Amino acid sequence: MSTSSNSFDVVLLGAGVVGVNSAYWLARAGKSVCVIDRQPSPGLETSFANGGQISVSHAEPWANPSAPLKVLKWLFDGDAPLLFRPRADIHQWLWIAKFLVDCLPHRADRHTTAIVKLATESRALLREIRARENLSYDQRTTGILHFYRDQREFDAALPVAELMRKYGCNRVVVERDRVIEIEPAFADNHESIVGATYTADDESGDALKYTQALAQVCERMGVTFLYGSRAVALDASYGSVRSVEVRTPAGYRAIAARDVVVSLGSYSQKFLRPYGVSLRIYPAKGYSITIPIEGSNGAPVTSLTDDQYKLVYSNLGNRLRVAGTAELSGYSLHLNHQRCRAILDNVRKLFPRAGNFDKSQFWTGLRPTTPSNVPYLGRTRSFRNLWLNTGHGTLGWTMGAGSGKRIADMIDGGDGALAA
Ligand SMILES: Cc1cc2nc3c(=O)[nH]c(=O)nc-3n(C[C@H](O)[C@H](O)[C@H](O)COP(=O)(O)OP(=O)(O)OC[C@H]3O[C@@H](n4cnc5c(N)ncnc54)[C@H](O)[C@@H]3O)c2cc1C
Repeated sequence: MSTSSNSFDVVLLGAGVVGVNSAYWLARAGKSVCVIDRQPSPGLETSFANGGQISVSHAEPWANPSAPLKVLKWLFDGDAPLLFRPRADIHQWLWIAKFLVDCLPHRADRHTTAIVKLATESRALLREIRARENLSYDQRTTGILHFYRDQREFDAALPVAELMRKYGCNRVVVERDRVIEIEPAFADNHESIVGATYTADDESGDALKYTQALAQVCERMGVTFLYGSRAVALDASYGSVRSVEVRTPAGYRAIAARDVVVSLGSYSQKFLRPYGVSLRIYPAKGYSITIPIEGSNGAPVTSLTDDQYKLVYSNLGNRLRVAGTAELSGYSLHLNHQRCRAILDNVRKLFPRAGNFDKSQFWTGLRPTTPSNVPYLGRTRSFRNLWLNTGHGTLGWTMGAGSGKRIADMIDGGDGALAA
């Protein structure tokens, strides 16, 4: 949809799951909103084919006290779930230095608390939006099961589950026999499971379908979307932003706004650097495969997390989505076939009757990751009307609805800021 107006209460940069949630809450607060995205429709970049989990139970950040040793081990393993490919890029090295600092126990504790709080708030708001707007996006509300095939991994997970309970997330330990009750698809491989934890309140669903459906709701509420339009610059001086320069299919255009919100995912950092706004966001490339279930009764129906291989599973109606791995290797979206094959083999071994593996679709996306996995949510220091809602890393789908509400509240004078 195009518009003739050149001035809005809020211009929102980025129509991923985070940007569209923000547009929704701003529109509900009565603001005139214009959303700008370079893609032809919403949700086509990192929000396109993620793991599908709404997982408060996954709130512990990668940067935790056990990480440095694991990462050191994984440095020399090409199939490791977290892969670091060193580059001549100061931004990458600064990110890693901050990551190591964020592994300190008191910092990891603080970040986990902030993430659980935002994620829990967000899960409740997602339910509210779903009911109010009558959205359906292949959602399942049957919880998330973290399962373990290695006794040591399971033992290590018990304190994490306890930590989650301490923070208010009801992640309980379940015995092996209960695992098959929760997820009957484990029948083919029941003996390999040593134990599990289960969070009944967690959910799953297709983030792309949600983003597209919510964007339509926003349009009906009067939000303007400029697709195929790239934000190229800010007209900013004396501590405020006057307008955003946009390259639209019809040519360049300056769009004025009282407030500007940046939700450009992994590109937020590059976009803002010329204005002295320095963000510690680095792309963490992840993979997903989508397997058509084709009527098979061997696909899991509960959303699952395989902590050992860092893979998540979500049943999206007639598709099984499996996602995971992280490569800190820059902005390339190149599909590494060895990685795709490794994920596929893993799924096939565990759920041999999950669906038609030959028709699997492979995808990569760039998680906009801060070292702590806490997003940037709030006003920039240098510009009074320039706001950030970005850097949601591994949990943008989980934290999207809540972050959108918080940024809308803050623009209206409320609080709720977070700094990565
Ligand atoms: C493999 C994988 C699995 C994941 N699994 C989960 C999961 O199970 N649960 C969960 O909660 N999260 C998960 N995530 C994370 C989640 O997908 C992301 O955190 C989330 O999608 C980020 O949303 P975003 O809106 O910030 O970014 P994006 O979706 O990338 O949106 C940013 C938008 O900005 C636009 N843009 C960029 N630059 C410009 C410009 N200059 N001008 C105009 N437009 C621009 C892009 O086109 C894009 O649409 C996963 C991610 C990956 C990669």
